Amino acid sequence: MIAFRRTVYLDNNATTPVSPKVRRRMERVLSRVYGNPSSLYREARDAAGILQESRQAVAAAIGASPEEILFTGSATEANNTVLVGLAEHFAGSKGRIVSLPTEHASVMGTLEYLKGRGVEVDFCPVDRQGFAKLDRLEALIDDRTFLVCCMLANNETGTIQDVSETARMAHAKGALVLSDCVQAVGKVQVDVKALGADYAAFSAHKVHGPKGAGALYVRDGAPVGAFVHGGHQEGGLRAGTESLHNIAGMAEAFKGATEMLSRAGRVAKLKSRLLTGLREIKPDIAVNSPEQNCLPNTASVTFPGAANSVLMAHLDFYGIAVSAGSACNTQSDEPSHVLSAMGLTPDQARQTVRFSLSDLTTERDIDYALSAIRDFVEDRGPRVTAVAPGQLDENMLFDPGTYILDVRFWHDRKVLKGLPNSHQASFVFIQRYLAKLPRDRNVLAVCQAGANAPIVAYYLRSKGFKRVSFLMAGLAGWKAVHPELYRKHAGQKVTSIEA
Ligand code: PLP
Repeated sequence: MIAFRRTVYLDNNATTPVSPKVRRRMERVLSRVYGNPSSLYREARDAAGILQESRQAVAAAIGASPEEILFTGSATEANNTVLVGLAEHFAGSKGRIVSLPTEHASVMGTLEYLKGRGVEVDFCPVDRQGFAKLDRLEALIDDRTFLVCCMLANNETGTIQDVSETARMAHAKGALVLSDCVQAVGKVQVDVKALGADYAAFSAHKVHGPKGAGALYVRDGAPVGAFVHGGHQEGGLRAGTESLHNIAGMAEAFKGATEMLSRAGRVAKLKSRLLTGLREIKPDIAVNSPEQNCLPNTASVTFPGAANSVLMAHLDFYGIAVSAGSACNTQSDEPSHVLSAMGLTPDQARQTVRFSLSDLTTERDIDYALSAIRDFVEDRGPRVTAVAPGQLDENMLFDPGTYILDVRFWHDRKVLKGLPNSHQASFVFIQRYLAKLPRDRNVLAVCQAGANAPIVAYYLRSKGFKRVSFLMAGLAGWKAVHPELYRKHAGQKVTSIEA
């Protein structure tokens, strides 16, 4: 049994805490440098100087020259700029993009958008560890292909692709290459020239920088179109007054990322301590991340028989943050597209947890997480009951001893009607409504797709609620199993306790 409670953050691929150096730099810029870099007087020149220094710092960290760096509001925006811009640029001449099926949502979602506008998109298969099948990739690139998307490191598994070989193949056939390098920075050396990519996307908040700050590398001479119009900033490509404190914060974070590289070996040792410990606790785990060519901080692990949403909730109870794949989709029960592309079944994907460590992770953190996982595997720890959608029949729905707590977000409530006699209180503010919840009844937490309710159920246990349960697969799963009950009762006597 676990003897102590602390906070252990093992979800650094989702985001990282801002480092003290970055915070100090941002505070200094915010408090002292208020000029608009586009103006001419002294205050403005100070701001323009910071902009230029920041561009140099980011460029130096990735082996580019400052003129090749475009600051954006996020890596998502950087990826969008390339994909949408090139589709427009090549409209009428070339109309095809080849991509990996394991790209981040900011690429996958934009590809989906472009498909709707007539761009042909083909995906190159990946193997069980997420590596692109390069012979298949080469065969897919033809003379109509204007772009190949090949991320450097995957956010869910840490798999590092052979971007330079991909670029060689693409260039031989006249196609350009976009490489999403977001997850690689600070973990492995990133040199855009060695990679040979024409475009690369970067984000500050994955390396202890601020959220809402990104950069796009555009190789000198590569075509690029404006994504945000109406101003001359960033060479006319990204209009709008620059977010100077964010940009300065990103530059500081990228300097720190270069220093972090020398400590990556320590992080890799912690990862292997974690994996060794997990194999001892549960010998049948499957590690989806490759042993070679993988980020030192990332481990994707399948726990046969354990729903990842429940394991995550159990760990959250102990103050440990991990994630199910990418920052998980709470609206649907869709398994991770990355793991599915690697050949995992939907059930295996739903039993998979991503651990992502950082420079700040300690041996003590790992050992604490391992002891919490041992508790889970050996069925110790807080008692919370999982209710399968099939079990939630009319008897349970109308049982006076059960209090149904609907923790969905307001937008989900528009998509599906609530359970009869349910009480709505949004997931994010649940702590505000504790006093309104009955302690003498079984509280059944319900969400849209099964991700949030277990977290709430375990949270209520941590607050002393004795009888707590949650609906597996959420309202969406229940509706699929009991369509007749949904038609007959859903939406009746639903009340909000959010007043
Ligand atoms: N690409 C990858 C691989 C990521 O992991 C992320 C963040 O989750 C992004 C792009 C998007 O970055 P941002 O949050 O800056 O838009």
